Amino acid sequence: MTSSIRDTTQRLQIGFWGARGSISTPGRLTEKYGGNTPCVSVRLNDTHIVFDAGTGIRNLGLELARDYADRSEELSVHLFLSHTHWDHIQGIPFFEPAYMQGAKVTIYGSSAKHGFFEEILRGQMGYEYFPVTMSDLPSELRIRELEGETLALGDLVVSWEEQIYHPGGSLRYRVQGPGSDVVYASDIELNKCFVPDPDIQRAGEQKRYLDFIHDADLLIADGQYTAEEYPAVEGYGHTTIELLTEIAYQAQVKRLAVFHHDPKHPDRLLDALWQEYRAKYATLTPPMGVFWAREGQIIPV
Ligand SMILES: [Zn+2]
Ligand SMILES: [Zn+2]
Repeated sequence: MTSSIRDTTQRLQIGFWGARGSISTPGRLTEKYGGNTPCVSVRLNDTHIVFDAGTGIRNLGLELARDYADRSEELSVHLFLSHTHWDHIQGIPFFEPAYMQGAKVTIYGSSAKHGFFEEILRGQMGYEYFPVTMSDLPSELRIRELEGETLALGDLVVSWEEQIYHPGGSLRYRVQGPGSDVVYASDIELNKCFVPDPDIQRAGEQKRYLDFIHDADLLIADGQYTAEEYPAVEGYGHTTIELLTEIAYQAQVKRLAVFHHDPKHPDRLLDALWQEYRAKYATLTPPMGVFWAREGQIIPV
């Protein structure tokens, strides 16, 4: 997935606008890592890719609206949804660019919903739930089911795969930029795919996952639970931090952002986990950078 000659001067700008899983968790105990649900932006000049539209997308939308207020270029946003669970779509009605005349907002998602993808999104903005329906939005809003293997957007190429180890399924994405690759793979229970039981053969799925994330400069991935918590939440569709870090290292990921934090995990626990895993993977040869995604964080990759 990486080209041999890479333009490392053109770095992607990654923004974390929501890193909490399942439900938003505002409050004093979560103010450092944030309480907004999943939203990550990938920007290269005027190409804007967004992964998921949890409540975090509201702040991204305000930022984009400010940025483009005095510019002659029209804003075009490509929003890729992993799936339609509430924590990944609830911010759409509050996404400012959708209310901007002339702005283009394209929402992409799985075609595996039997044609219902658009209906699910429009349903969320039905009159009983929200005062503005999708058809009332003044932007040029389009909803597309993904087809083919890749999509070129400006200097970026986006590829995707279906993930089956999550209730109702989800999609993972890889963005190939001029100088680096970023993978977004949230909402998957890798503990069900990488089963330690040798009688359960899941080699094909394991290889697909490892190939997809291989050599990523940044992997943003579901690490919701600790191994101690896992037996009580098995089957919920999320991965343990222990397993995620092992697999990412095996796939030669350079930097790992642990993502989709459990609503019950306060800042002090996430800080402690970060210390532990950062130290563990910094001393290996080669090392792997590990950090816990934090709302409001913007990093070049
Ligand atoms: Zn989720
Ligand atoms: Zn989900």
